[in-house]
Amino acid sequence: MSSARTGAGQAPPRTTTAPARIDRQARNLAWVTVGVPTLGTAAAIVFAAHYGFTWIDALLLVVMYAITSLGVEGGFHRFFSHRSFAAGPVVTTLWGIAGSMAAQGPVVFWVAIHRQHHAFTDKDGDPHSPRALGPGLAGRLRGFWHGHVGWLFTVQRQDWARRAPDMVRDRLVMRLNQYYFVWVLAGLALPALAGWLLSGGTTHGAVGGLLWGGLARIFLLDHVTWAVNSIGHTIGHRPYRTRDTSRNVAPLAAISVGGSWHNNHHARPSLAHNRHNLLQIDPTGAVIRALDALGLVHDARYPDRMRPHPTTRHPTPHPPDPHTPAPDDPATPAPDNRTTPTPDRPEPAPEPAPRTPEQSAPAPHHTGHAPKPVSHREEGS
Ligand SMILES: [Zn+2]
Ligand SMILES: [Zn+2]
Repeated sequence: MSSARTGAGQAPPRTTTAPARIDRQARNLAWVTVGVPTLGTAAAIVFAAHYGFTWIDALLLVVMYAITSLGVEGGFHRFFSHRSFAAGPVVTTLWGIAGSMAAQGPVVFWVAIHRQHHAFTDKDGDPHSPRALGPGLAGRLRGFWHGHVGWLFTVQRQDWARRAPDMVRDRLVMRLNQYYFVWVLAGLALPALAGWLLSGGTTHGAVGGLLWGGLARIFLLDHVTWAVNSIGHTIGHRPYRTRDTSRNVAPLAAISVGGSWHNNHHARPSLAHNRHNLLQIDPTGAVIRALDALGLVHDARYPDRMRPHPTTRHPTPHPPDPHTPAPDDPATPAPDNRTTPTPDRPEPAPEPAPRTPEQSAPAPHHTGHAPKPVSHREEGS
């Protein structure tokens, strides 16, 4: 492990402390997003202290966590934000609902914020960089808190259409976005109903399902996702010398379903896999690969050695990733990195060449499941 504030990738302390203009509606939503699951988790612990923690509670926590964590990492992140694979409208809808049930914000908000993170990583404009906010340890802790959860209270939403124009143009995505609160409520009602049924129709089973499969599950996944933003830019290995402070955080790999290989991701953000060597586990990549084998998703971008069918099974050109690194990006294994190179670590797959404006033009028959994103390179560094 190497410290966040030493060595390559270190970013200077931020001089600004908060955006000048506060989006009050976003701040109110942040209080709900952060506060309700926190209170619900406290209630779940009190409930378990009085009535016990049953196997039904554990089952619903695990199952709902699995569905929604894959919805966030596979759906909101790799599919909607980076277009690392394509899918039809039914599968698109399922990814969107699963991600929305995580209650981290509607899909267009999530995508816009994440693309802004890639466009301005660790610079002014990055919505959740954990850079120091002032001198000394106090400044570092303030920056870490901002990168973890504080950013939700200062985030502004005016760039949604600019950051995610492909999302805004997509009627299916906008419909998923519009019904965000329905999906969140469904994510609470489903475990409550399942708890009621599995317990033989008891109120105890329903309440346990709501608290553990609903609110505590949201709380846990929230902090795992935010830890990728905060810890993932603070502590961990840097096998790739990217222009940011991104790190691979191995202890979080399983619970983040592969999202914590964050340096791998910043080095090659358009890949459907975050696993760059055989020792790295990436459950989301495995699910995408299984769905690909079943024909439920297509045009997935894999590292070359992982490409399952090097054939012309899917001859359709893949849309470009909105954050394809520039040709001169130093997203290559760092020769002086402080980690022990893994012998079987492959060379990263080359990214598709940047397309011409003609190639990047919106498709005439836009179906809503594989829109053409636009490049945000000009807004980055
Ligand atoms: Zn990052
Ligand atoms: Zn990303």
